[in-house]
Amino acid sequence: MTATYLKQTFRDEVSVTVVESERVGTVGVGEATFSTIRHFFAYLGLEERDWMPSCAASYKLGIRYANWREVGTYFYHPFERLPVLDGFTLDDWWLHLDGDVENFDTSCLLLSALCEANRSPRLLDGSLFTTLLDREIGNANEQRTQFPYAYHFDADLLAKFLTTFGVERGVRHVVDDVVEVRRDERGWIDHLVTTEHGDIPGDLFVDCTGFRGLLINGVLEEPFESFEDVLPNNRAVALRVPADPGREMAPYTSATAAEAGWIWTIPLYERVGTGYVYSDEFCDPAEAERTLRRFAAPDRPDLEANHIRMRIGRNRNSWVKNCVAIGLSSGFVEPLESTGIFFIQHGIEQLVNYFPDRDWDPALAVRYNRSIAEVIDGVKEFLVMHYCAAGREDTPYWKAAKSRAVPEGLAERLESWRTLLPEPDTIYPRFHGFEAYNWKVMLIGLGKAPARPRPALAGLDPSGAMAEFAAIRRQAERLVAELPGCREYVSRLHG
Ligand SMILES: Cc1cc2nc3c(=O)[nH]c(=O)nc-3n(C[C@H](O)[C@H](O)[C@H](O)COP(=O)(O)OP(=O)(O)OC[C@H]3O[C@@H](n4cnc5c(N)ncnc54)[C@H](O)[C@@H]3O)c2cc1C
Repeated sequence: MTATYLKQTFRDEVSVTVVESERVGTVGVGEATFSTIRHFFAYLGLEERDWMPSCAASYKLGIRYANWREVGTYFYHPFERLPVLDGFTLDDWWLHLDGDVENFDTSCLLLSALCEANRSPRLLDGSLFTTLLDREIGNANEQRTQFPYAYHFDADLLAKFLTTFGVERGVRHVVDDVVEVRRDERGWIDHLVTTEHGDIPGDLFVDCTGFRGLLINGVLEEPFESFEDVLPNNRAVALRVPADPGREMAPYTSATAAEAGWIWTIPLYERVGTGYVYSDEFCDPAEAERTLRRFAAPDRPDLEANHIRMRIGRNRNSWVKNCVAIGLSSGFVEPLESTGIFFIQHGIEQLVNYFPDRDWDPALAVRYNRSIAEVIDGVKEFLVMHYCAAGREDTPYWKAAKSRAVPEGLAERLESWRTLLPEPDTIYPRFHGFEAYNWKVMLIGLGKAPARPRPALAGLDPSGAMAEFAAIRRQAERLVAELPGCREYVSRLHG
């Protein structure tokens, strides 16, 4: 992703070499994305039909959270903003007029109906579902804002696709092992030493070596700050399960709370990616694998499990001297809101924003590092909120989640949301991808809506809001009737 994006930006002004080992594999997971990913493909000039069939890709309208509030319950967290009626967002009106948490997502969010009915976000002629509506769901043009959907894809296939794409545009691709890294007298990286291709010199080195952080942590010794005190899930086990072509394809990621963590289910075109994210304080790898197999593939003991130890946290700085870490080498929070690839995309965009020239003005790196840290710290807070707010308290893991420390600032915010739902100026204050609506949807869905509605609404005429609830129901019925199933649309796209 980094190589193709840099090449697309700077064309022949910058020469880009990717060094990638055949011996050291990739992490082998990372299949659900965040809705800004669309801008990445658009930037490369790629339409869905150009890349989706090569990457087993499908659509993601949001995340279905099951068993988080209580075993047996679920709700959707879609990529959809909440409409404003008479100066108040619809969630406030819902709290005033209804307040039954079971009804929240279907009352206020149109995309929940599409998820429930496994619908594609596109009509068979390729047009977006929003063409059937008279409302905006997200802004399709702005770089920083969310689009109404994201994708599921096979990250290995995407890497292969982008390798071909990049090489065709002049990226040099070297398959070899980096065995040594040489530095100059200032301590800056001068060149990489490889087994078969000799020395590879460079001006700027982008460390994409995953959790190893070969250059940033290994060579430059930048400290990695762990988040395990507030986000204790430090392991995962994953399975690749063949998809049943006779079944509907869900246009969402599922995050199902389990005894010592949660299980992801990501439907791709021909298989389902699934994995159990857990804390080794509460579960060992063998038990986690058994739980996952029971849940996802009880009749396929032959499938190979991929056990992963996760490094949760971020580098103090992701740009140090002439090295910029992007991807797992920079930072990672657990994959609950599918933000790993979003961090990568954000890192690349910021690298372009602050790209250095031969003067290497240190202010560029300072600004870059601040931007990266803010995004990762914001998502960390958002995820910690998931565990604080989750209603579940039935196992030692979920009990412990309630008494764990929270990042500075979040405790105060949580307290304020006991009276009023999150607003743009009461959420984590810097750009982190998520907006006030995301915080509200999660807080309510997890069972922590304020006990009382906003008092002002008692003095207002509710007829506008009631008409909006009725319009959402009507529009949802129309969309479900007119949109094709996700599998039907995606199968056509894949030819
Ligand atoms: C359990 C789990 C679930 C995840 N789920 C999601 C998700 O749903 N959505 C999402 O957006 N993100 C997710 N992520 C994050 C996502 O997987 C990563 O952000 C993404 O795959 C990119 O990884 P990477 O390229 O940074 O590292 P890796 O995939 O580890 O790649 C490292 C690369 O460095 C190379 N390398 C290492 N050492 C050397 C060497 N000495 N010489 C040459 N090459 C070398 C390797 O060959 C490899 O190509 C998840 C991560 C985990 C751990």
